[in-house]
Parts: sequence; C-alpha cells; structure tokens
Amino acid sequence: MTTSDTCSKPTPVRDPETDEFFDAARRGRLLLRYCRHCSHYALRPGKHCPECLSPLTWVSGSGLAQVWTWTRIHHAAHPGFAADVPYVLVTARMAEGPLLTLRLIDDDGGNGDIEVGTPLQVDFIEHPDADPTPVFRRAADD
Ligand SMILES: [Zn+2]
Repeated sequence: MTTSDTCSKPTPVRDPETDEFFDAARRGRLLLRYCRHCSHYALRPGKHCPECLSPLTWVSGSGLAQVWTWTRIHHAAHPGFAADVPYVLVTARMAEGPLLTLRLIDDDGGNGDIEVGTPLQVDFIEHPDADPTPVFRRAADD
C-alpha cells in the first residue's frame, strides 16, 4: 500500500453494503461482486446481479488488469487533486472480465508509456482518517 501525503482529497464513504470491501481493502485485497448463479462479475453498487437478479456475493479478485482505454487529466475536478495534475485515469479490463476505472498512480505525469494492453495491478492508497482508495499501478515485469 501507498500512504497518501495529504488527505484533502475526497475519500470513500463506508456503509453497511461496502463494509466487507473496505475491510479487505485495509488488508490490501480487492473484492469483486460475483453472481454464483450466472457467473457475472459486477463492479457497481447493489445486492443483486444486473443480469439475472440473483443475490451477489463478495469474492477475491486477482487485482490484475490490462489497459482498455485511458486519459490524461489536466484540470483537477476537485481542489484536492490540483497538485497532482496532470495524472492518468485508466479504464482497464480486469482478469475476471469487468471494466474498472481507477487512477494510475505510477505515471510520470507527462510522457508515460501507458498504452492499450499495458498490464496493471490494483493497489490501495491509505488515508489517515478514511478507508483505502483503490488505484492502478503498472504490473511488475516477470
Ligand atoms: Zn447473475
């Protein structure tokens, strides 16, 4: 995990529906919502599968993904990110199939080598007074 240097950024808000997700995130583990009836992964809030309406359960995700698309943010949408621009926002295809959009934290801020298909790994940024925030970083070369 990476520790945030400031906590002026908006942070996740825990609720009973996300307790298990954030408990796992505090241990550096990514959980995904999964439908055991139709094998669909869901990355949006909700207790029921958007495909078949069966109950969803939390399962461990690999955290592995590949860049599907990305954009470089030059204007902070929140004052907490003003010191970070430019930064890269990535939508990546998770190894389990769904798309997930997160910030890429190990970009060089300008001329990084990010491209479609770049392998990524989910990581978490710790905050002193809030639950961890999931982010992407480039996967280590094997
Ligand atoms: Zn389903």
